[in-house]
Amino acid sequence: MDSKVARINNRWSLENMTALVTGGTKGIGYAIVEELVGLGARVHTCARNEAELEACLAHWNSKGWPVTGSVCDVSSRAQREKLMEIVSSVFDGKLNILVNNAGGAAGVQPTATATKEYFDEIMTLNFESVYHLSQLSYPLLKNSKAGTIIFISSITSYLAFDVGSVYGPVKGALHQLTRNLACEWAKDNIRVNVVAPGSIATPLNQRVSSDEKKFSGINARIPLGRIGEANEISSVVAFLCLPASSYVTGQAIVVDGGFTVNAFMSF
Ligand code: NAP
Repeated sequence: MDSKVARINNRWSLENMTALVTGGTKGIGYAIVEELVGLGARVHTCARNEAELEACLAHWNSKGWPVTGSVCDVSSRAQREKLMEIVSSVFDGKLNILVNNAGGAAGVQPTATATKEYFDEIMTLNFESVYHLSQLSYPLLKNSKAGTIIFISSITSYLAFDVGSVYGPVKGALHQLTRNLACEWAKDNIRVNVVAPGSIATPLNQRVSSDEKKFSGINARIPLGRIGEANEISSVVAFLCLPASSYVTGQAIVVDGGFTVNAFMSF
């Protein structure tokens, strides 16, 4: 093969790289696991439901795909620490890619009456876990000499939806965390970026849309005319993990079919 072509191929490959993807048994996380493996990475994933995790691992391993997994509720500090011990052992202390995907919000509470439990649950799952897993991963990412962190936020970082005033602001905080860590850890050749999905067909989205009649008009307002697929998020995540994006850090990419740029006006 021509050496120039070989160099280009290397820039679009995750061969010999290791990745941790949280929440890989469903939806966007599942697609990210498959996308990264498809590009050559070895992946470890986690979820709370052991039976679903085992089923996913059996499926991937039956195809010979290098995916391992362990049960972890990322909202638990002790379980996050245990997860990173396992990851360190599986990947010999080196991690190239951390995808902080697990997140979401169970239910909606109006601000005036939102409970402390509701606030704490969303904060812990969507911010504290992500912050702490980034901290725990830092030495492993540094050891790899070429690390990258991806946060999964949401278009609720940009737009005010009537889905409660905790989830949107917390997802927005991931954008500033992205910028902070991108600058703080650039010296270690760790890049940090965030992907903000719009409405994507996943179990989470199905649960929210069926609960909330107010969501029914959203899909009709997407310029591309449809909600997105999980693999339309995973491909963008993969790009940000590849050597091909080696000069991209501290950035947010919105993947929403044009929803957030649409003025909803016609003349
Ligand atoms: P999903 O369909 O509900 O899948 C979530 C995955 O994460 C599952 O594997 C789930 O497995 C795992 N998970 C959930 N809570 C966890 C916890 N506490 N600890 C460990 N694993 C956990 O969700 P999704 O739609 O793919 O969403 C993925 C990410 O995209 C989230 O951060 C979400 O906020 C964001 N997002 C989604 C959309 C959308 O339209 N779908 C839009 C914007 C942003 P277990 O239940 O077994 O733990």
